[in-house]
Amino acid sequence: MPSTEPDVEPLDGRLTRLRQQVETAEASLRRLKLQVQETENQVEVKRQTQQAQISNASLSEQTKRASDSLRKSPRDEITLVNTAGCDSPSPRWPLTAAEYQRYGRQMIMPEVGLEGQLRLRKAKVLIVGVGGLGCPAAVYLAGAGVGTLGLMDGDTVELSNLHRQVAHATTRVGMSKVESAFQYLQSLNAEVSYVRHDFHLSPEQAISIFEQYDLVLDCTDHPTSRYLISDACVLTGKSLVSASALKTEGQLIVLNEPPLRPGNLSGGPCYRCIFPKPPSAESVLSCGEGGILGPVVGVMGVLQALEAIKILTKQRHEPAETSASVEAQPVKASLLMFSAYSNPQFRTVRLRSRRADCAACSTHRTISADSLSSGSLDYVAFCGRTAPVNVLPSESRISAREFSQLAQDSSNVLIDVRDKTQYAICALPGSTNVPWTGNADSWLAKAQQSGALDHAQNQKYIVCRFGNDSQLAAKAILERPEQTSDVKDVTNGFQAWREEVDSSWPDY
Ligand SMILES: [Zn+2]
Repeated sequence: MPSTEPDVEPLDGRLTRLRQQVETAEASLRRLKLQVQETENQVEVKRQTQQAQISNASLSEQTKRASDSLRKSPRDEITLVNTAGCDSPSPRWPLTAAEYQRYGRQMIMPEVGLEGQLRLRKAKVLIVGVGGLGCPAAVYLAGAGVGTLGLMDGDTVELSNLHRQVAHATTRVGMSKVESAFQYLQSLNAEVSYVRHDFHLSPEQAISIFEQYDLVLDCTDHPTSRYLISDACVLTGKSLVSASALKTEGQLIVLNEPPLRPGNLSGGPCYRCIFPKPPSAESVLSCGEGGILGPVVGVMGVLQALEAIKILTKQRHEPAETSASVEAQPVKASLLMFSAYSNPQFRTVRLRSRRADCAACSTHRTISADSLSSGSLDYVAFCGRTAPVNVLPSESRISAREFSQLAQDSSNVLIDVRDKTQYAICALPGSTNVPWTGNADSWLAKAQQSGALDHAQNQKYIVCRFGNDSQLAAKAILERPEQTSDVKDVTNGFQAWREEVDSSWPDY
């Protein structure tokens, strides 16, 4: 036995070194793959643009020739009518036979018409975020026949996404969201060109990517990306359809529409005009923490597709960037608010027009294409970082594993501070539920009422979902003058409980 020991050490070291080498190689491979994908996308968009220009030019030439010949001989009309049966646009019919069938129901609407359908086919739309908002938005835009649809997301599909992210599937859990949505959309309408941006948007790339599109949909779920997307839209002159949804409520707003150049007060306001300051970092909940009802976010995503279709199909009059247009009536944005459990469910609030001192879209703007592309704008710092709560000394904390090994008797009191809905999903036997109220005094009053604090000498343990609220509650008890016994919070809450103690604990 001892003779083998000297060999073990070097082998371990070698293994660690090899693993590190593999990790480094894999990381650079991932970076390279991203670069390849992005370049491929750019090449594809360029190719399509050139092709569209060529076919547009030849189409108008053919149409002219066809109408000339029609005037000469009525017999030619019969020949031309017959060609409508083929599956490529003929001189007489700008859409293919299949396109007339596929889009017929929306094309006979006077709001769309043939002109509108042709505008849709020419349009390039970027969807940032292929989740609860982006999936329904992408589905309806692909269905409507938008020519090019860009899909951007850096996440992979998780089981907890599927109740609302309707373009993904159980069989595609673990796959990138962009690839998963692409597979769904391709089977829905293969006529659309899909461009895959398989990564999260960064300030450095935003301008070069947005330039390739006509319209952007913000389907993300964090203020950091909202400001970045709005700034990049202003700088590239693109209209923006922005939506958000949380719990049972949603909001929708169309920004930078019309997308006139910065400084022209007749353009639509940008996100910074409406929200010059970000919400406090602490107040921002994601769907993971705050919960979301599937159809609520679905409604908002569908409304985004609707606004996009309205913008894309309408006749665009080239904006006159003259002094006369500056005097035109400024465009005011309106915010549509949806609340699933209110009556009425929809309300609209008129908001302001462009702000004369906006940091992005005014003549006094401080945000430029250079500052964005160079990465010198720190959106995360602007919106504030949510530091993990850390308010207790280490002696007032206990790990989930240590807690599980304590005696199960009446000398220990476990207070669960999650809300009562989560408590009803799963709870430890013998625990008392006193939901954290966000305020030490009001929570202590509730805890008193529940009897959880009756025996001041008992050791108290506080637990929550992730281990933030439990620290605040433990601190509240510790600071009571009459408190004599110890109070501890279970570090990282039930998340740690599931990882360290009970793997069958529901991962909701
Ligand atoms: Zn603005």
